[in-house]
Amino acid sequence: MKIGFIGLGIMGKPMVKNLLKAGHEIVAFDLNSESLKEVTAAGAVAGTSAADVASKTPLVITMLPNSPHVKTVVMGKEGVLEGAKEGMILIDMSSIAPLASQEINKACSEKKVKMLDAPVSGGEPKAVDGTLAIMVGGDKALFEEVKDLLLVMGATAVHCGSIGAGNTTKLANQIIVALNIAAVSEAFTLVKKAGVDPQLVFDAIKGGLAGSTVLNAKAPMMMDSNFKPGFKIDLHIKDLANAMDTGHGTGSPLPLTASVREMMETLHADGNGGDDHSALAKYYAKVSGM
Ligand code: NAD
Repeated sequence: MKIGFIGLGIMGKPMVKNLLKAGHEIVAFDLNSESLKEVTAAGAVAGTSAADVASKTPLVITMLPNSPHVKTVVMGKEGVLEGAKEGMILIDMSSIAPLASQEINKACSEKKVKMLDAPVSGGEPKAVDGTLAIMVGGDKALFEEVKDLLLVMGATAVHCGSIGAGNTTKLANQIIVALNIAAVSEAFTLVKKAGVDPQLVFDAIKGGLAGSTVLNAKAPMMMDSNFKPGFKIDLHIKDLANAMDTGHGTGSPLPLTASVREMMETLHADGNGGDDHSALAKYYAKVSGM
């Protein structure tokens, strides 16, 4: 199938490569010409704008940082809706605010473009392996139509409800991940300060109830002080801000989310916003005088 793909960052590039490997033709676009070169070297064709990509393909995937980027790319000048033909399908796989998904979907409907929100979890390694967890909002029949395509990039694709439900699910995921990383940082700071070897603590607890994907992925990074992203602190601040806005809008207090967001904002202010989110360990190192 001929597919448009816009947003060739840490996640978009390996997702495009998996679609190419599965035999799909890709027309790609990104503001970053280096990223565009990397995917054309892998077999994609370069588009000249989002509108150009949409004019050449019946299905467009977007993988962009946040709500304003997706709104610009879809609804802005030289955006997807300027180039889209009636019946085109837009799958936005970015993690954005659920209300933004609904607003973009409304603009799409006015142009007879069908849309799903389909954010992902699993980070760069699972994007490379094609084993992302994909959470989808929008029309169920449309989801069934594109499910096989989603499963080229993911190990699972679950329909979670109407448009925006994919991103609501993703906010839940991001709250759980952020709070877990903070818990691991807090616990490992304690053991270091108490003079116990963190590696031995990790070996002792990973098979017990505290064991988790987050512990396995992030504790080794913290022990090696390797904070290369992965998933950047600044992107996680964006997700927690979207979660807080959604919390305000729905009357759901999020006290733990608010605390971890503040820790991440401190890291950003210290110039660490581009680090992996495991750099929450740096916040604890700072406040505990390590
Ligand atoms: P990234 O910053 O690496 O990539 C974003 C890309 O979008 C960049 O290449 C940028 O040039 C491009 N872009 C921005 N504005 C554009 C525009 N107007 N037109 C064309 N291209 C534009 O981000 P990422 O890590 O790939 O994340 C993408 C999305 O996936 C985010 O919503 C993020 O929260 C989510 N996500 C990321 C991870 C991860 O581990 N990195 C995991 C799960 C979900």
